[in-house]
Amino acid sequence: MSRILLTTSDHSRDSASLRYVYPVLSRRAGGVSVGINLNPNNACNWRCIYCQVPNLQRGGPPPIDLVQLREELVGLLRRLDTGMAFGDEPAAAPRELVDVAFSGNGEPTSAAEFPAAVAVVQEVLAGCGLAGKIMLRLITNGSLLDRRTVQEGIHRLGQTPGEVWFKVDAATAAGLARINNTRTKPEVLARRLELCAELAPTWVQTCLFRLDGELPADSEIAAYLALLEPLAGRLEGVYLYGLARPSMQKEAPRLGRLDATDLEKIAAGIRQLGLTVHVSP
Ligand code: SF4
Repeated sequence: MSRILLTTSDHSRDSASLRYVYPVLSRRAGGVSVGINLNPNNACNWRCIYCQVPNLQRGGPPPIDLVQLREELVGLLRRLDTGMAFGDEPAAAPRELVDVAFSGNGEPTSAAEFPAAVAVVQEVLAGCGLAGKIMLRLITNGSLLDRRTVQEGIHRLGQTPGEVWFKVDAATAAGLARINNTRTKPEVLARRLELCAELAPTWVQTCLFRLDGELPADSEIAAYLALLEPLAGRLEGVYLYGLARPSMQKEAPRLGRLDATDLEKIAAGIRQLGLTVHVSP
């Protein structure tokens, strides 16, 4: 059985040569994260200009083979148990298995099998003695929350223990079109976010960057804070990200990193709403 090489710099989803399941050493999760990729065809219903998925296409995934998903997850958890290699990561880097995350090369909830996949993961974790010991996470753009099946999957995930990281990169129609290439209206996004928070503990995740050298406009930040304010008491908090890894989209040359001071300034505004904020420059 080969050892799996994990580093925080290499997040390629084929490090274990599997279709649906991949391990990463994750700064986001603070340890080893097992990712579930329900979008092996690199298709998403959005096209965020900072998206790091190579050869991203618009669309949804092919049917998911739940038997294969189960086998891959069981096999990977066994391999992680017996042998991980950590490249040149510092010895102090956290190396515990901390979560299983639906986080793939597209929107996980666009798979018709999403609720069944949540059930499979929960069964595997229970079978490995990990139920209740590690977090089950869903990283989502939230766009399909109106589907009953998606709601069922999220509600199920919330029982694990589990939580949702819900993407909110902009809160104006123009901003959503510019950053996420979606026609979603801000009020619809807010309604879906509220619904999500009713179904499972929910964090907002927001990616911030310079576009053509410009900081996010004050009017965009004001709209973002106005969207979060009425929901503040129902959210777990906000993860603010800079551009950790390069965009694989055609806009990549137009994107630049915000420095930590700029991110902290925006974080301070969010904290004034009473929300917990974690910042990753
Ligand atoms: S929602 Fe996620 S996977 Fe889809 S385009 Fe945006 S960043 Fe990429």
